Order: sequence, then structure tokens, then C-alpha cells
Amino acid sequence: MFLADYHTHTLVSPDSQASIYDMAAAASAAGLRELCITDHCDLLSLEGDRQLTFDWEPSLAQFDEAEFFADPNLVLRLGLELGSAHVCPEAARNILDRPGLDFVIGSLHNRSEAAGGGDYYCVEYSSPQVCRDILDDYFTNMEALVRLPDCYDVLGHIIYPLRYMVRDGQSVSLEHCYGRLRAIFRAAVESGRGIEFNTWCGRTVEEWRPVLALYREAGGEIVTTGSDAHAPENVGKGLADACGLLRDMGFRYLTTYKGRKPAFVKL
Ligand SMILES: [Zn+2]
Ligand SMILES: [Zn+2]
Repeated sequence: MFLADYHTHTLVSPDSQASIYDMAAAASAAGLRELCITDHCDLLSLEGDRQLTFDWEPSLAQFDEAEFFADPNLVLRLGLELGSAHVCPEAARNILDRPGLDFVIGSLHNRSEAAGGGDYYCVEYSSPQVCRDILDDYFTNMEALVRLPDCYDVLGHIIYPLRYMVRDGQSVSLEHCYGRLRAIFRAAVESGRGIEFNTWCGRTVEEWRPVLALYREAGGEIVTTGSDAHAPENVGKGLADACGLLRDMGFRYLTTYKGRKPAFVKL
């Protein structure tokens, strides 16, 4: 089975200590064919402050070195997980104006600035109403992001806030958001963009079924797979199951990227 991990972090991200060598070695050991490093660049900080620049140097330096030393059978790609591009599209475009960049995940980790801008991770999900309000804010942000197709290739971990709602003991369904999701997916498909199937280190696979069904209904074909590994032991986790689910649901291809152009591999 062709496996490609298109969502991974290294020590260039503030929340990872993994070296790119260890991530690449783990990818080879797990039998992956491609590994894309997608370190964090968030236009809003954990607390919601704007940070509108990105220092590419550490990222590029480690990538160049790793490309030289890595297993020749492993394709290495340079990506970026760009958070909250819609807050300042101009800054996002400046950051992405970088030759050699293969792939961009458009993520939303933060509440809208009007709601304080903090990370969804930091919210205390104390009631179903809090969850509904947060999801409303989240999809409002996604509706803004999807209209900026030059600022992302795939929409990142669409079920992101659910991770923390479940953490806080809430049982949440996205059903009341399906209409909004359909419109978001149609907009992404019309502009040639896709979504990622993010397994969160193998913890979320089945959870994706309803989201993938809506995406397919909207004509969606472009899907990347990613573990969101921040440490070598999580590289590739859940990807085989994700590919199996995609195939079961009628998707025909897994998508990979080079130079921000999609390529399709039969599932
Ligand atoms: Zn993320
Ligand atoms: Zn990530």
C-alpha cells in the first residue's frame, strides 16, 4: 500500500522536539513512500496575538541537509501548516512566496480575533452550548479561509475542535454544521483545493466518515493523509486505516504534492 504522511512536525515547530532525521528514519521504518514536513506557522499565537512573519531559515536548513542524508527510497517534501491565513492574507502570501515549498495545510487553531483569538485547545468545553458557540466561530473562520485558495492546498484537520470537546467530556456531532460544510467543500472543490484526512496519531479514523461523505457529495477528490506526528513514534500512525476507509467510501486516489501541484496515486 502506498502510504504518504503529509502532516508532520519537527523541532522547528514550538511544540515538537523531533529532529527531521529521526522523523525521516521513522517514516522509512514504517514503510512510508513519502514524508512531508509541515511545521507550524500560525498568524495568531496560542493567546491570540498576531504574528505575521515566519523565519524560513531553520526550516530550509534542516530540509536541505535531510534531503541529502535521508533514505533515497523516501520522498521528502517541504510543507507548511499555516494557521489563520484569513487574519491577514497579505502576510500569508508573503510567507508562502517561497521557491521549493511543496505543500500548504490551511489550518485554524484559533478563535476569531473578535472572540479573543486564543487556541481552541485552550477553551474549557464545559457545556454543549460552549461547543456550539465554538463550532459556529470555527466554521465562520473556515468560510473566510476557503475563499483564499492561494493561501492553502488542503483544509487542515477539519474536526480539530472536536479533539478538545471530547477531552472535556462533551459528546459532539457536527450534524448541525453540515449545510455550512457542504458550501465550504463546494468552494474548495471549485478552486481545485482539497482536504486532509488527519488521523491525529492514529486516534481519529472512523470520526472522519461523515465529513468524508459530505466532501465526496460535493465532488471532492483531493485528499491527503497525515498523522500530525510531533514525535518519530507517531509517524504514519493510522494512515493505512485511513486509506482503507477512503477506498471503502469510493475515493479512488490519494493526493501528494510537489511544488504545490497535486499528483494522484491510486488507492
Ligand atoms: Zn494543526
Ligand atoms: Zn499539525
